Amino acid sequence: MKITAIRAFPCWVGIRTQLLVKVETDEGIFGWGESGLTGREKAVVGALEHFAELIVGMDPFNIGGIWQKLYRSQYFEGGRVLAAAQSAIDIALYDIKGKALGVPVYQLLGGKQRNHIPTFATTSGEPNEAMIEQAQMLIDHGWTAMRLSPSGHDETTYEPREHIATTAKWCTKAREVLGDDVVLGVDYHHRLSVAEAASFCQKMPRGTLDFLEEPIRDETPEAYESLRRMTDIPFAIGEEFASSGSSCPSSSAISTSITASTSAMSAG
Ligand SMILES: [Mg+2]
Repeated sequence: MKITAIRAFPCWVGIRTQLLVKVETDEGIFGWGESGLTGREKAVVGALEHFAELIVGMDPFNIGGIWQKLYRSQYFEGGRVLAAAQSAIDIALYDIKGKALGVPVYQLLGGKQRNHIPTFATTSGEPNEAMIEQAQMLIDHGWTAMRLSPSGHDETTYEPREHIATTAKWCTKAREVLGDDVVLGVDYHHRLSVAEAASFCQKMPRGTLDFLEEPIRDETPEAYESLRRMTDIPFAIGEEFASSGSSCPSSSAISTSITASTSAMSAG
């Protein structure tokens, strides 16, 4: 079997863009991947065009070899754009291999390890009474974990102090109303500085949040290391991480920042 084409399909999926990637073969089997770099699809499409020149004609079963070729055969390697394109191809190659062998992809990754995967829901709109009512409705429908909306998410001008105060107030209220059993988190989409994130955490009683997602940018591992020392709220982070590039924290820094309980929750 040989790879014959890599095709990119930028899509609009309601609230954001998504880049689907199709890898085709000469045996009619094709695989689908997704790049995950929302808002930078055009750059990823260009990277995919570069990568197609390298791997069209190769055997799609050699997933590890193709990964090495994409990552190491050129002078500049890794970083968010190239890693996003490479990831999409990698996912598609597993799809091809699974289809060709007639097995689910998890059989190619060590076999089945669990019978279900916990998921979470996200409330919409500004934090207020309506948000808590929405959260209660989600609980009534069986959801046991959810992300609450941070204040100012959709505003053009973000005022950290103002929005931190509002978000902390309504998260505290939500915990009081919803009880201790539900898992509550907030996704800050890395809009805060270390000091602002620490301030936000300290404005709420201990136990209010079960996780805080992407509070700061990942530009330096030391920033997360500092923040880790200022709060015991578990972090859900990693959306910005990519192989290589200065933005990728060392493995030791990551291990002190990510908690096992939240690692399955990072979903945008
Ligand atoms: Mg997120």
